[in-house]
Amino acid sequence: MKPANSIFSACGTTIFEVMSRLAVEHGAVNLGQGFPEGLEPPALLQAAARAVIEGPNQYPSMMGIPALRQAVADHAKRFYRLDVDPATEVMVTSGATEALADCLFGLIEPGDEVVLIEPLYDSYLPIVRRAGGIPRIVRLAPPHWALPREALAAAFNRRTKLVVLNSPMNPTGKLLDDEELAFIADLLVRHDAYCVCDEVYEHLVFDGRRHRPLMTLPDMRQRCLRIGSAGKTFSLTGWKVGYITACPALLQPVAKAHQFFTFTTPPNLQQAVAEGLASGDEYYQGLAVDLQKRRDRLAEGLSNIGFELLSCAGSYFLVADIRPLGFAGDDVAFCRHITVEAGVAAVPVSSFFENGDVRHYVRFCFAKKDAALDEALARLARYFARR
Ligand code: PMP
Ligand code: GLN
Repeated sequence: MKPANSIFSACGTTIFEVMSRLAVEHGAVNLGQGFPEGLEPPALLQAAARAVIEGPNQYPSMMGIPALRQAVADHAKRFYRLDVDPATEVMVTSGATEALADCLFGLIEPGDEVVLIEPLYDSYLPIVRRAGGIPRIVRLAPPHWALPREALAAAFNRRTKLVVLNSPMNPTGKLLDDEELAFIADLLVRHDAYCVCDEVYEHLVFDGRRHRPLMTLPDMRQRCLRIGSAGKTFSLTGWKVGYITACPALLQPVAKAHQFFTFTTPPNLQQAVAEGLASGDEYYQGLAVDLQKRRDRLAEGLSNIGFELLSCAGSYFLVADIRPLGFAGDDVAFCRHITVEAGVAAVPVSSFFENGDVRHYVRFCFAKKDAALDEALARLARYFARR
C-alpha cells in the first residue's frame, strides 16, 4: 500500500479526544476537554429550533448568512470600535478550527516561515506544516508565561509570512497586555508580516480585565485576521460556528480555502448565533462573572488538595503544578492515573508543546456545573488522602 500523507500519519489522536474517551470509559468527571456545561443560553436554543423548522436550511452564501455577517460587524464596533464591512470583511466558518485552517492554507506559500508561540493549540502545527509553512516556535515559560521578547524578535526574518497568536490563551489563561501587543505589532510592521489572531476566548476574561484585539492597534487593521467562535461565546461548542474578520485583501485568499474545505456552515445555527451576538451587556458580563466563580471554586478546591495553581486571566482553563503531590510520573501519566484511579479527567500541558520537556503541569477545565466541580474535587480529595 502506498503511504498516506506523512504529516497527518505522524500525528496521534488529539489529546482532547483521547482524554474524553478515557473519561467515558472510566465514568470520570471530565475536566479534560474544554467544553462548558449548564451555560447554554435558552434563547439561542429556541432560535436555533425555530430556524430548523422555519429555515433557512439550504446552502447559504459561502461567506455566511447576511444577518450573521452583519452581527459580527456590529459586535466588532460595539466591543472594539472597529469599523467592519459585513459584505467584504467577514466570513463565517465551521468553527474556529476551520477558520484557522482557512487562514493558514489561504496565506502560506510553501517555504514561508510561520512564528508560533508555545504552548500552542494542537491544530496549529500540523496545519502550518501541511500548508508548506516552516514553523519557528517561540516558547513561553511557566509559571508566568511572559512573552520572551528577544526570542520572539529573533524568530522573525524576511521569510516570515505570519504569526499565530492566541489570546486569551489556551491552556495558560494568559491575556496579552497592551505592551506585549504593541511589541508584536512593531515586529509585524518591521517584517511585513500578518497575524492570525485566535481570539475564541475573547469574552471569557476575568477580574475586570478586558480583551483587546491586536487588530485595534495602529497599522494592524490590514495585517490581522481575527477569529472568533460562537462555540465559546455562547457555550455551544458542538455547533461549530466561527467567524473571521479581515480586510478584503486578506480575506479573499482565505475564502478560497474555505470554499473547498467546508464551503458553508449550517444556516439555521448561523441565524441563532446572529441573534445571540446582539445580546445585551448583561449576557456578556454574566458569562464572565459566572465562569470566574467557577474558576475560583475549582482553584480553591485544587489548592486545598495540594496542587499549586498558576494564575488564569481568561479561557476555560486552570493550570496546576502537580509536583507538590509527589506523584512518580509525568503529566501524561498523572492525567491517565487520576482518570482511571480517582475518576477525574484532566489534560497534560506537555501536549501543547512540540517537544514537551515541561512535564509537571496539568490543565483542568472549570466551565462545569458546580455539582460536577464539587464531585471532581471530592473524588480527588478522597484519592489523595488515601495515597
Ligand atoms: N482555538 C483555541 C485556542 C481553542 O481552544 C479552540 C477550542 N475549541 C479552538 C481554537 C477551536 O474552536 P472551535 O470549536 O470553534 O473550532
Ligand atoms: N479547545 C478545546 C480544548 O482545548 C477542545 C477542542 C477540541 O476538542 N478539539 O480542550
